[in-house]
Amino acid sequence: MRLANESRRRNPAQHSCDSCGQTFTTVFSLSRHKQSHTGEKPYKCSKPGCNQAFFNNSDCKRHEKSLRKHKHLLS
Ligand SMILES: [Zn+2]
Ligand SMILES: [Zn+2]
Repeated sequence: MRLANESRRRNPAQHSCDSCGQTFTTVFSLSRHKQSHTGEKPYKCSKPGCNQAFFNNSDCKRHEKSLRKHKHLLS
């Protein structure tokens, strides 16, 4: 089975957003994407090391309570 995004594998995204983990092929699209994190999502996760941000407070609180979301932060 061929995947539609097969060609993308030859050009793997190399720039990843440190806020949400999304990856981009160019630093330009990454920086443009990063702007969407600033200002538009005023509710930030308070866990140290976690940079997730949210549009509303309830989503943020729900995320903060999720241990699964922060599993990778625990050592
Ligand atoms: Zn991001
Ligand atoms: Zn978090």
